[in-house]
Amino acid sequence: MDLNSNVQNIKGVGPARAKQLSKLDIYTIKDVLFYFPRDYLDMSPLTFKQGAEDKTGAFPCVVTGRAATTKTNSGLYITKVPVSDGQNKGYAVFFNQPFIERSFYPHQKLILIGKIRKNFGTYEISAPEWIKFEEIKQGEKLEKIRPIYPLTKGVSQNFLRSIVKNALEVVSSIEDTLPEDIIKEYNLLSLKEAIKNIHFPQSFNMLEKARQRFVFEELLLFQLSAGLSRYCVKAEKRKNIYKNLELTPFLSSLPFSLTSGQKKVLEEIVEDLRSKNVMSRLVQGDVGSGKTIIACAALYLAAKNGLQGAMMAPTEILADQHYNTLKKFLKPHGVNVEILKGGLAGKERKKILSQLKNGSIDVLVGTHAILEEDVMFKKLGMIITDEQHRFGVKQRENLVKKGYSPDVIVMSATPIPRTAAMALYGDLDISIIDTLPKGRQKVDTYVVQDSMRKKVYDFAALEIKKGHLVYVVCPAVEENELDVANVEEHAAWLKENYPSLKIGILHGKMKQDEKDDILGRFLRKEIQALVATTVVEVGIDVPDATLIIVENAERFGLAQLHQLRGRVGRSSLKSYCILMTASSQPEALTRLKFLMKCQDGFEISQKDLEMRGPGEFLGIRQHGFFEFKFASFVENTDILETTQKLASEILQKNYLQLPEYKNLKELLENKAKDAIN
Ligand code: ADP
Ligand code: MG
Repeated sequence: MDLNSNVQNIKGVGPARAKQLSKLDIYTIKDVLFYFPRDYLDMSPLTFKQGAEDKTGAFPCVVTGRAATTKTNSGLYITKVPVSDGQNKGYAVFFNQPFIERSFYPHQKLILIGKIRKNFGTYEISAPEWIKFEEIKQGEKLEKIRPIYPLTKGVSQNFLRSIVKNALEVVSSIEDTLPEDIIKEYNLLSLKEAIKNIHFPQSFNMLEKARQRFVFEELLLFQLSAGLSRYCVKAEKRKNIYKNLELTPFLSSLPFSLTSGQKKVLEEIVEDLRSKNVMSRLVQGDVGSGKTIIACAALYLAAKNGLQGAMMAPTEILADQHYNTLKKFLKPHGVNVEILKGGLAGKERKKILSQLKNGSIDVLVGTHAILEEDVMFKKLGMIITDEQHRFGVKQRENLVKKGYSPDVIVMSATPIPRTAAMALYGDLDISIIDTLPKGRQKVDTYVVQDSMRKKVYDFAALEIKKGHLVYVVCPAVEENELDVANVEEHAAWLKENYPSLKIGILHGKMKQDEKDDILGRFLRKEIQALVATTVVEVGIDVPDATLIIVENAERFGLAQLHQLRGRVGRSSLKSYCILMTASSQPEALTRLKFLMKCQDGFEISQKDLEMRGPGEFLGIRQHGFFEFKFASFVENTDILETTQKLASEILQKNYLQLPEYKNLKELLENKAKDAIN
């Protein structure tokens, strides 16, 4: 039997079975070996009393009488087999299998495997699996830990267990994917041992070691691939030479001086522009840390060196705001900034496009509208994308194609822990703005039950009376079956209860010019309370807003709530964030209350990552490389770091060319193919 041979070579697998197994993507013997359990069952014997509520366990017992089947009024057959564990009596209960009666007889010894519960004082194990002592062969050892596989129609646990057992007979012919030196140095299980123990662990300790081996391998592959793409990007030589890296005129024209974090990041960027290679840099910073001004400085340098710049934002509202900021800070230096909007009339659009092509526009701001084919630059040398993990790598690349060997800065709107950032943006260097501008106050945050709503909005009215502005965020736009707060009804309720307040609404379904109009009026205080969806989440800057109320806050992730909270506290005015909820679930409340004590975006996203997992959090499921079976960015940070060091050593010393690395190299190439497809 050869590893790559058809599953039908396994005893008991014929064409019909093979077809069923193909639904599990199992075609070869190797596929069987790599079909891993989704869970494990501790087979340590338990008494009925020890069986925990809702947990599956193994219960040795003896049948104490005849099994009996009854039929309920609704036609359901219930078979009860009386059993005893030596201390307590109980029943094994089966449904709609009346014939099962015949499997049991008094004094028979069994191990029942299932969930136990107490039904009116008697123990019951519903629909258990069972092992008959009489069928256990002499000398056969029962598994201490039983694997539980993901199934498909017609394929049972028992069947999978038996074919895995058969396939394991040839596991010794499998070649290790990791070189022996690495296995020794990092004290890992060999691939063979790891596969054996992932299916039929000798102990929970060995199961853990097997898992660690796979975590290590996954993260090493991941780091190698990230390292390789970084290496490729890095290798691109700079074509745009920056003769003038003087920032003083720009910096001295700002109404504030940069924070130390901003200075550090800006120095890193200048260093990149001075270097021989093209820049690809991720700039991270908490909400309000002042990322825009960094982008502005980079665009300033590009313009001063005869290059055009482009800045891409995830929403029109944000594009508009960036446009205003850039214009304000760059125009005095003779830098011509334009914005390209989606719904622009043909004539205006044409004018912008031709100015872009002849180079009279220095900086173009816009949404992904600037990705369109007819948008052409004269010499695009600096690209900035403000990302709410919304632009894929592809979109960024499309913009790069429009440029002349452009430098790229990616600004991440949600701060994420460095390890996760490394993972998500493996091809970028990372800069972190780790300071907030002076005078920023902590935003007082409260989690408040819906029953207090009136009090909360009375407080909002008081804030407005002081000349401040208020955001109200609802999860939905209109009435909905989920029964969550919606913008339309909520605004109507506010108008009715607070007739003197000027109320406006804003959501993604509105037309662009309507949105612009509403935001403009909010900024001019013609609107005092803005009832909105999360369209306000991304970076809107309204300094006089001092209160944000989030309705049905339990429906949002922590990082998102932190981002929303960042809409207030943007000046020296005391600001508040009130998280309304009707939920009484302890976990939901604990989660929300975390925001009361924590204001650090990095810490908050770490918590979010732990609670919701990276897929939910970063929306990275689309990313081929992140479908780890074993590894986690949250739990395996130490292995993530170890493998990063190892990967860079392997790449630097070109070890992948060595014969011992052949299998690893092959695996890496296959992964890369999968990710591209
Ligand atoms: P974010 O990092 O969330 O994108 P912004 O770039 O929108 O933050 O900046 C938030 C606000 O802080 C803006 O009004 C900006 O003008 C202001 N700001 C930026 N840097 C400084 C600084 N060094 N000192 C004072 N205010 C600053
Ligand atoms: Mg921003």
